[in-house]
Amino acid sequence: MSQTVGPAACQGDSFGYEAPGSLEELAAILRSEAGGERTPLFLAGGTDLWVDLRSGKKQANLVIDLKQLPELSGVREREDETGLGALLPIHSLESLPALGREGQALREAASALGSYQVRNRATLGGNLGNGAPTADMAAALIALDAVLELWRPDGSGRRVAVTDFWRGAGKTCLGPQEVICRVWLPRRVGWSSAFLKQGPRRAMDIAIVNAAVSLKTVKGVIADARVALGGAGATPLRPVGAEAALVGQKPSMAIFRRAGELAAEVSDPRGSGRASREYRLSLIPVLTERALTLAAERLTSQDDKKVARVK
Ligand SMILES: Cc1cc2nc3c(=O)[nH]c(=O)nc-3n(C[C@H](O)[C@H](O)[C@H](O)COP(=O)(O)OP(=O)(O)OC[C@H]3O[C@@H](n4cnc5c(N)ncnc54)[C@H](O)[C@@H]3O)c2cc1C
Repeated sequence: MSQTVGPAACQGDSFGYEAPGSLEELAAILRSEAGGERTPLFLAGGTDLWVDLRSGKKQANLVIDLKQLPELSGVREREDETGLGALLPIHSLESLPALGREGQALREAASALGSYQVRNRATLGGNLGNGAPTADMAAALIALDAVLELWRPDGSGRRVAVTDFWRGAGKTCLGPQEVICRVWLPRRVGWSSAFLKQGPRRAMDIAIVNAAVSLKTVKGVIADARVALGGAGATPLRPVGAEAALVGQKPSMAIFRRAGELAAEVSDPRGSGRASREYRLSLIPVLTERALTLAAERLTSQDDKKVARVK
């Protein structure tokens, strides 16, 4: 499907619109545009892209709508990982059984994003596409060790650890013709996770800071941990020093507080109209500590029952 959309919808000149029905069709469109004057912009739910086009923040001469690509849809289960299609609407993640107990952080991040209407329209891949450091899916996916499956028109797809996805403020590792196909979550038996967000209001707002964590304990001792923060720097942040401080310790308020302090030490948030740098810095240890406490309280396996209540 190819048509031209006019300036009534967006600022600037009219632009072309394509809606391929398969990756083969998408590849053919991109090949025909290669070296040409038009730079394609990919469209999923449009909750970021249309806003940016209307405000003039982005200009388009060709919009390629991904929504009809079956390869980017649905949930795929493998023995050791679950693949979430990039086109999955955020609302579908709120109660997705395939996420299991260990995926609770992603469910909570999905529930915290925007409004019901936004969550219905917005997609998982679109939330990553802009490279925003406060994107709610970002911190949750880091805490869950996600891997992104990227597609290229020449067939040389690749898998990228989500921690390698961001390259600076608003920058990602995506090439101009590269598409996020699927987000793979490894099965992590025995882990628990949690996500917390502080925004200017309780709903319909981008985070000032968000925190996602996951924990695994063995015989009452933390065997492994992930801590991820949004709004703590130019890109989503994984403070590995905070994680290292947790490993080998029994879950306790004191060790979670220490992890929060270490997370704040390596954070470098900027001040904006949404919140000052100082306010963000003051939120980081609090959200980290609370998210760790929540994750520890969720450890319910036989081995972990003894630490389910954090002292
Ligand atoms: C009122 C409102 C409230 C919001 N609240 C929140 C919030 O609380 N938390 C939050 O994180 N966000 C929030 N957002 C931002 C937005 O809704 C999310 O970022 C959303 O997930 C974007 O998804 P989308 O499918 O609409 O992306 P689109 O707008 O279609 O695309 C966004 C960007 O990603 C690119 N893209 C999309 N899909 C792919 C793909 N598969 N591969 C490569 N690139 C791709 C596009 O080219 C574009 O650059 C809010 C937006 C609005 C309008």
